[in-house]
Amino acid sequence: MEGKAFLRSLSSSSLACNRFFFPCRFPRSFSSFSSSSSFSVHRISHRPITALTRRTLLRRHWKVYPIAATSSSFLRFNKRFSSLSTSAVAAQPAPSSPDVVSVPDEVAEKFGFEKVSEEFIGECKSKAVLFRHKKTGAEVISVSNDDENKVFGIVFRTPPKDSTGIPHILEHSVLCGSRKYPLKEPFVELLKGSLNTFLNAFTYPDRTCYPVASTNTKDFYNLVDVYLDAVFFPKCVDDYQTFQQEGWHFELNNPSEEICYKGVVFNEMKGVYSQPDNILGRTSQQALFPDNTYGVDSGGDPKVIPKLTFEQFQEFHRKYYHPSNARIWFYGDDDPVERLRILSEYLDVFNASSAPNESKIELQKLFPEPVRIVEKYPAGEGGDLKKKHMVCLNWLLSEKPLDLETELTLGFLDHLMLGTPASPLRKILLESGLGDAIVGGGIEDELLQPQFSIGLKGVSEEDIHKVEELIMSTLKKLSEEGFETDAVEASMNTIEFSLRENNTGSFPRGLSLMLRSIGKWIYDRDPFEPLKYEKPLKALKARIAEEGSKAVFSPLIEKFILNNPHRVTVEMRPDPEKATCDEAAEREILEKLKASMTEEDLAELARATQELRLKQETPDPPEALKTVPSLSLKDIPKEPIHVPTEVGDIHGVKVLRHNLFTNDVLYAEVVFNMRSLKQELLPLMPLFCQSLLEMGTKDYTFVQLNQLIGRKTGGISVYPFTSSIRGREEPCSHMIVRGKAMAGRAEDLFNLVNCVLQEVQFTDQQRFKQFVSQSKARMENRLRGSGHGIAAARMDAKLNVAGWISDQMGGISYLEFLQGLEERVDQDWSGVSSSLEEIRASLLSRNGCLINLTADGKNLTNAEKYVGKFLDLLPSNSFAETATWNSRISPGNEAIVIPTQVNYVGKAANIYDTGYQLSGSAYVISKYISNTWLWDRVRVSGGAYGGFCDFDTHSGVFSFLSYRDPNLLKTLDVYDGTGDFLRELEIDDDTLTKSIIGTIGDVDAYQLPDAKGYSSLLRYLLGITEEERQKRREEILSTSLKDFKEFADAIDAVKNKGVVVAVVSPEDVEAANKECSNYFQVKKAL
Ligand SMILES: [Zn+2]
Repeated sequence: MEGKAFLRSLSSSSLACNRFFFPCRFPRSFSSFSSSSSFSVHRISHRPITALTRRTLLRRHWKVYPIAATSSSFLRFNKRFSSLSTSAVAAQPAPSSPDVVSVPDEVAEKFGFEKVSEEFIGECKSKAVLFRHKKTGAEVISVSNDDENKVFGIVFRTPPKDSTGIPHILEHSVLCGSRKYPLKEPFVELLKGSLNTFLNAFTYPDRTCYPVASTNTKDFYNLVDVYLDAVFFPKCVDDYQTFQQEGWHFELNNPSEEICYKGVVFNEMKGVYSQPDNILGRTSQQALFPDNTYGVDSGGDPKVIPKLTFEQFQEFHRKYYHPSNARIWFYGDDDPVERLRILSEYLDVFNASSAPNESKIELQKLFPEPVRIVEKYPAGEGGDLKKKHMVCLNWLLSEKPLDLETELTLGFLDHLMLGTPASPLRKILLESGLGDAIVGGGIEDELLQPQFSIGLKGVSEEDIHKVEELIMSTLKKLSEEGFETDAVEASMNTIEFSLRENNTGSFPRGLSLMLRSIGKWIYDRDPFEPLKYEKPLKALKARIAEEGSKAVFSPLIEKFILNNPHRVTVEMRPDPEKATCDEAAEREILEKLKASMTEEDLAELARATQELRLKQETPDPPEALKTVPSLSLKDIPKEPIHVPTEVGDIHGVKVLRHNLFTNDVLYAEVVFNMRSLKQELLPLMPLFCQSLLEMGTKDYTFVQLNQLIGRKTGGISVYPFTSSIRGREEPCSHMIVRGKAMAGRAEDLFNLVNCVLQEVQFTDQQRFKQFVSQSKARMENRLRGSGHGIAAARMDAKLNVAGWISDQMGGISYLEFLQGLEERVDQDWSGVSSSLEEIRASLLSRNGCLINLTADGKNLTNAEKYVGKFLDLLPSNSFAETATWNSRISPGNEAIVIPTQVNYVGKAANIYDTGYQLSGSAYVISKYISNTWLWDRVRVSGGAYGGFCDFDTHSGVFSFLSYRDPNLLKTLDVYDGTGDFLRELEIDDDTLTKSIIGTIGDVDAYQLPDAKGYSSLLRYLLGITEEERQKRREEILSTSLKDFKEFADAIDAVKNKGVVVAVVSPEDVEAANKECSNYFQVKKAL
């Protein structure tokens, strides 16, 4: 998938993330901002987000809807420092530097290394040493501090010369077995049975990155060893079938059938190439860099992938996966000597490469004049195609890489122009009414040369030029007039807050630092420099104070943008025929091929297809499985992770306090009950939340309000939250206001929360209209990119009230609601506006309010009086009646049709209805099903990018889902076979132990303090006690094969009574309905 995306997405601002399926974004949690980073650097990661998030799925099933947020922005900025900014809230005890063990020179020498440089980096309180492996030239950074979340990564420069996707296919393939670990997929074994806090791989346009993380030292070194063996000694270079499976091959089940292309990467990229935002991003990048490696697609163009030969693939590995071309990173509290010892074992085997510089990335020369490109993208037939154009302006900012200070200043400029809804370039574009949503990622500096991209989608053909003119004139105006002082101050505070908080969410801090460092190191620049922000930040502040912000920023806009001829304008036109044409072109190639083949050829191909499938479906022999190192149950703590929670009250309102070290940041959540809201108002909730943060009050315009929040806090967000509660009909449904600030600013934080909730006026019709079209654009995007999330929400909607609400606020029903709302805003604005007031009146009440605070003890105490004041200002209506929600939705199987080349297929049922009683073993079993049965059948032999199951223990809904799936009915057959799979299952003790440990790894997922406080709040809302957690843990730890067999009967409910929802292409649903007479009700969505 698009990794950048993925990395940015972790905290789920959106419905796609409802159920924690993350959309393709970097984790910039709290952010409804994703639209503007829709592309630029294209990173692809080994596992679909869904796989990664299974962990979360298992633990939490609450649903979070599109979040309105003001803090979105800083994360955008933070990516400059941590390419993976993230989950907005959380500070952990910053790693301090105790008596870090140093590696004496003679010890390094003994292992074949020499120390190149050494530094203490105050910003991350770490000692960092750069070593060079003398024999091969491999470079190693060894970072020591007291962070228990240890990180290892190995990175190779892998610039491709064509779009066959070699680097991407290789990235997948090296994880399919190696010298020491000769099984099909050690990677999957690690997923099953380790305590990893991060495990994945990414392909960038010019490098491939293999990171792992764990808090358990033994587990950590196990992971490191498996990864090192995988990259240096993979089986795939001698195994044509792995290349076929992960890359591409012809498939022919029977000589009488048609030949088709299959392959995990082939299919993954077909999905990527179905998404307009992705096509735009790729087209822009390739047009900006026609002369170097960025002019081709490292991920692979599905049209070109079948040109790749096995010999080219082998050669690429030989050339680039060599120590002389490697950069290696270690981080955390483990022994730095041990790191070198492990590495020496691998590196010493190699001699220096004869051409270590062959992977060097060439610079792109600047164009003498601007370029214009027009491209088509696949669009559905429905809707008004005239208003579906996209236009994006892109600049290559410099012929030479920039120094860090200039990059930092450009980062600020980017934040000032685009970072928040109040930022002028963003605001002017959205308010122009020329388009629905922003495209382009602003300034990107992850590649050798920085770029800037900005544009709009949802544009009419005749308005394309107006958009271009507006962008140019706004930039010109900004360079002439500069920025408001308050805006500069707000950006400065936001950025500083985020740098110091260093909140990487569920992403390991050490990995975030590694990606920051590697962004320069890979180009042979100083790898420590990107980690040190204090000095350049201070210098920039001083310059702004001395010369004024205009003198700092205006010359940059002029030099890099306005007077820069290297500009590429990309215009994208909707083409309802494109998807069909592409399909037809592919068919034609395959038909021609088949026509040219003799009967023997065809028989041979069918045999090879059969052979590959057989290999894929044959389990690894137990001896091979045993090679993958694993922990034993005695390495596992018997008790769940404890979060200190004190339940008290302030002025009669319940308050949860979590006394945790947060480095002087106060994290607060204010929760309101949504249960008294009238049914017809539910779909308005997400827009209500957005309006609170983006409409302004009597005293402040929304720009001023946003600036105030930026200047005084670390951000505020508001969103609805819903989940089923086990054993109860009634769902849990709330609105949560989440905010953070330095503890000394607690008063400001609560004043601003109050202002947002009580004083914002719902009067700005034009702005509201923009929210509606942005939401519509976002939903459409989600449908294409995260169709499995939409399918899951829809299935839930058919099965329980919480699911129904989720569909109302972020699923297909929501999309339909938005389509009607656009008109209503024009015709009956006062009606809409009073509906928003009505929502406020029914939600805001001290009754049913709950406060959650996370900080150090003294800061908690200090905050109390401001909480009290805040509560006193809330209306204290007597508790309103619970509204009647008539949550009916047609229970039949549904196909949601969109223009796509790959499907998302789901099937689900409530297994509590069969009498199944929850046991912790269900976590182990679901994970096992996902990692074995579904992985093998849906991904490996089915060719989908991902397939997994998910058990919502709150509602009892067990669901199967696939991701970027070439199949439809076939996948449903796999789901239906799960019960029998379990009944026939034989597993030995080792495998069982591994599954248990892997599950504990999920349950104990690493959390920064804010996330701990937040999880504890959610457990409180869902009625999950500490006793229950302990009981589930014991059940997990004592899971037996008998539990698997018993679970088979429960899971058969899905086969027998399950509901099916699929997001599919029109051709596939037509074929399916022909084959199984009208199996699906068809719903056209785009
Ligand atoms: Zn991939």
